[in-house]
Amino acid sequence: MIYLDYSATTPVSYDVLESYTRATKDFMGNPNSLHSLGVKSKALMHSAIKQISDIFNVLESEITFTAGATMSNNLALIGTSLANMKYGNHILVSKLEHPSIYAICKYLENIGFEIGYVDNTEEGLIDFDDLKKKMRDDTILVSICAVNSEMGLRQPLKMIRQIIKKENPHTFLHSDMTQALGKIPVSFHDVDLASATAHKIYGPKGIGLFYKNSRVPFTPILYGSGNINMYNPGTPAVPLIVAFSKAIRLATVDLDKRENFIRRLNEKIVNELKKYDGVKINQTKICIPHILNISLDNIKAETFLHALEEYEIYLSTNTACSSGEISTSVMAVYNDKKRASSTLRISLSYLTTTDEINKFLACFKLVYEKLNLLKKEEQNNKYNI
Ligand code: PLP
Repeated sequence: MIYLDYSATTPVSYDVLESYTRATKDFMGNPNSLHSLGVKSKALMHSAIKQISDIFNVLESEITFTAGATMSNNLALIGTSLANMKYGNHILVSKLEHPSIYAICKYLENIGFEIGYVDNTEEGLIDFDDLKKKMRDDTILVSICAVNSEMGLRQPLKMIRQIIKKENPHTFLHSDMTQALGKIPVSFHDVDLASATAHKIYGPKGIGLFYKNSRVPFTPILYGSGNINMYNPGTPAVPLIVAFSKAIRLATVDLDKRENFIRRLNEKIVNELKKYDGVKINQTKICIPHILNISLDNIKAETFLHALEEYEIYLSTNTACSSGEISTSVMAVYNDKKRASSTLRISLSYLTTTDEINKFLACFKLVYEKLNLLKKEEQNNKYNI
């Protein structure tokens, strides 16, 4: 198998799985319980939170564990919007967000908030002038992903936050950092709120992180018992939290070394694929190398994906969560519906090998030639009728 879909999800690393198993076996108590088993689990959970808060240099109380980035995005956008209604009802988002952000915006719109969309430059960078222009006195929240999931477009969050605060000091910045964590250095100090998830960084599925700076007014949207996991009450998933902590510690080291290696793989693919007339490389200067997006001229991306699957090669059409629709990011960057309607996302990891890339390129050639031939035959048959 050649797995080139690391931005959809990653395999759980052995060490992470071991932490999960140990925490499950040896810490069965509910951390909300008062007896010694509960106290033991609570202590383990706190040491995991401390490890995470130390890495990001934030307060332990500023971290809430969630079921994943989708839930973190829900908490961030809805909880912050509800709490800041008295200051306004205007929210800005980029045109490069994950589908979960747009789904939440739709809900917020239905309950009376106004959503605005910030333009980006031809490179996919947030258009700072447009951001300034669209900021208003009643703008309460801006949400901009750190790294976009379809093309890997990376945004300068620190600079964006400075612009926002200059225009309106009461506006908060949320960033979906799901595709950034474990790939590039991230700082929660560049933003007011952030979302991330473990399964993109070799951790288990079902556990995410929501960071909220203590200064940000917030209305909880989930209610229940137990208050050790701030905005997601109930029994905390201690083994998942422990595993997530381990995954963060393992994923945030050697970033430069891993990125350089991945960049070489990315360049190798680009150099080969740009030779095909019917392939367009959707890459700009601000793309991180871990995500490579291409458009196919005359072949449906889904057909191509399934043809590659016959060689046990796995990748995505745009993002795993929006497969089947046109790529919103390719559309936002190139403003070309045809180009955005048939895109493939190749996502790489430090685990990817040069040999895998060589095999992928050889299979890509076979599939490309076969599907183009079929297309020509189809066209010839049409004219023969
Ligand atoms: N945000 C981004 C940028 C993503 O890439 C994804 C997953 O594809 C999500 C959110 C959703 O994450 P989860 O599956 O943890 O809910």
